[in-house]
Amino acid sequence: MPASRTAYEEHAPASSVVRAALAGSRHGVFWLEDAPGTTYPALVGATTADLAVVGGGYCGLWTAVLAKRRNPGARVVLLEASTIGWAASGRNGGFCEASLTHGEDNGRSRWPEEYDALERLGAANLDALEADVRDLGLDCQFERTGSLSVAVEPHQVEWLRGSPDFLDRDAVRAEIDSPLFLAGEWERDSCALVHPARLARELARVAAELGVEIHEGTRVTDLDAPTRGPVVVRTTGGPVTADRVALATNVFPSLLRRTRMLTVPVYDYVLMTEPLTDAQLASIGWSHRQGLGDLANQFHYSRLTADNRILWGGYDAVYPTGGRVRAAYEERPETFTALATHFLAAFPQLEGLRFSHRWAGAIDTSTRFVAFHGLASRGRVAYAAGFTGLGVGATRFAAEVMLDRLSGLSTERTRLEMVRRTPLPFPPEPFASIGINATRWSLDRADHRGGRRNLFLRTLDAVGLGFDS
Ligand SMILES: Cc1cc2nc3c(=O)[nH]c(=O)nc-3n(C[C@H](O)[C@H](O)[C@H](O)COP(=O)(O)OP(=O)(O)OC[C@H]3O[C@@H](n4cnc5c(N)ncnc54)[C@H](O)[C@@H]3O)c2cc1C
Repeated sequence: MPASRTAYEEHAPASSVVRAALAGSRHGVFWLEDAPGTTYPALVGATTADLAVVGGGYCGLWTAVLAKRRNPGARVVLLEASTIGWAASGRNGGFCEASLTHGEDNGRSRWPEEYDALERLGAANLDALEADVRDLGLDCQFERTGSLSVAVEPHQVEWLRGSPDFLDRDAVRAEIDSPLFLAGEWERDSCALVHPARLARELARVAAELGVEIHEGTRVTDLDAPTRGPVVVRTTGGPVTADRVALATNVFPSLLRRTRMLTVPVYDYVLMTEPLTDAQLASIGWSHRQGLGDLANQFHYSRLTADNRILWGGYDAVYPTGGRVRAAYEERPETFTALATHFLAAFPQLEGLRFSHRWAGAIDTSTRFVAFHGLASRGRVAYAAGFTGLGVGATRFAAEVMLDRLSGLSTERTRLEMVRRTPLPFPPEPFASIGINATRWSLDRADHRGGRRNLFLRTLDAVGLGFDS
C-alpha cells in the first residue's frame, strides 16, 4: 500500500498560523505553576524509620499515605531528591485510567488467564482512588468524565464498530466538534481526569498530616542491606536506618542493579492553550469534558482544564540515545511545531487561540508497557516502576502491592502473574536505540499506510514486545 498523508497532515494550516499560535508560548509546566504547595525540609543527620519511601511522585506518596492507613503508629520517612511531584507526576496528562494493563488487548494477550481479575482489580482501584480523593479531601479537580477515543482515519472507524459505546460521525462531533473526527467510542466509567500536580501536592499534604516525615532535596545514593537487620538508606542528608524500604523512583536510575535495564525514558511532549473564551468553547462543544485520544499509533491526547484551556500532547515519542533523563531533551521545536499543526488541523475553528505553555517529560517505559513490581534484600526492599505512561491510577495499585509484600502478605494482588513476573530488560546501547527507533519509524509508517503493520512490528507482536495502541 502506498504511503498517504495522515488526516492531520492533510488538513495542516499554513505554517504562519502555526508560528503565530506558538509565538507566545513559554517552556514551563502549567500544572506545576497552577498547584499551590508547601516545601519540606531536607534531611539533616541520621534518622530511623519503620518504612523509608524513596521518591516523591504518586507511587511514593500513595505508599506513604496507605502505609499510615494500615498502621497509623508506623514511623514513615519519605525521601525526594528534588521537590514533590516535579517529575512525571506533576506534568502528565492527568488521565486516571482504570486499566492496569494499558488496555484490554495488551492485558489479554500477556495474561489471558488472569485478565478478568486484572480488569476487576483495576476498576476497584479507580473506585478506591475516587473514594480517597473524597474522604481525604484531595483538592485535585477530579472529574469522572470517561474517555472519548476518536477515529481520524477510515481504517480506525472499523476498529470501533461493534463497540457498545460506538458513536458515529455526527454523534462524536456532537460531543467534540472536529472535522477530522469520523467516529468515536466513549467509555464513560473507566477513566477520570485529575489536575496532576495538585494530586501530588495534595497527597503530600495528607501524608504530612498523617505524620509522614517528608524530606525534599534529599537524594538517596545507596542502599546497604546486610543479611539481617535493618537496611541503611544512604542519602545526601544522612543515613536512614529502616526496617523496610519502598523504592518509587520510576524512570530514574534504579538503586538496585537488577532493575536498571527494565525501564528507559521516552520523551513525551505537551502544549497547553490559553483559556478559551465562551464563544471558542461553544465552537467545539465538549460539554461532557471527556478525556480525548485518537487511535493512531502515534496518538494525540487532549483534555480541558478547570479554567477551560486545552492540553494537547502525545504524537512524538522520542528516545534519547543512552537512555538518560535530562532537562535538555524537553525542548524540541520540531515536535512542538508538529503538535501545534495537528491541533489546528483538528480544531480549525480555534485559529487565533494561542499556546501559553509547552513542556515535556520522560515516559517510564518498560518492554511490556505495564509496571513491574518486585521484592529484594530478603523481603525488606520492594520496588515498582515502568508505568509506561499509565501511572496516574496504577501507582496507587503498585503502592498496595509494595505494602502487601513488605508485610509478607499473600493477597490476590501479590499472587498475580503480572505482579510476580518481571519484564524483559532493554538491550544495551546501541541495540536499544536501534530497536526503539525502528519501532517508532515503523509505527509512523503504519499510520501512513492505513494502519498496516510491517514485518518488524508483526515480529515484535509475535514475541510479546509489540504494542498496538
Ligand atoms: C508528559 C507525560 C504525560 C503522561 N500522561 C499520563 C496520563 O495522562 N495518564 C497516566 O496514567 N500516566 C501518564 N503519564 C505517566 C505518569 O505520569 C507516571 O507513570 C507516574 O507519574 C509515575 O509516578 P511515579 O511516582 O512512579 O514517578 P515520578 O513521578 O517520576 O516520581 C519519581 C520520583 O522519584 C524521585 N527520585 C528518583 N530517584 C531518587 C533517589 N535516588 N533519591 C530520592 N528521590 C529519587 C524523583 O525525583 C521523582 O520525584 C505521563 C507521563 C508524562 C511524562
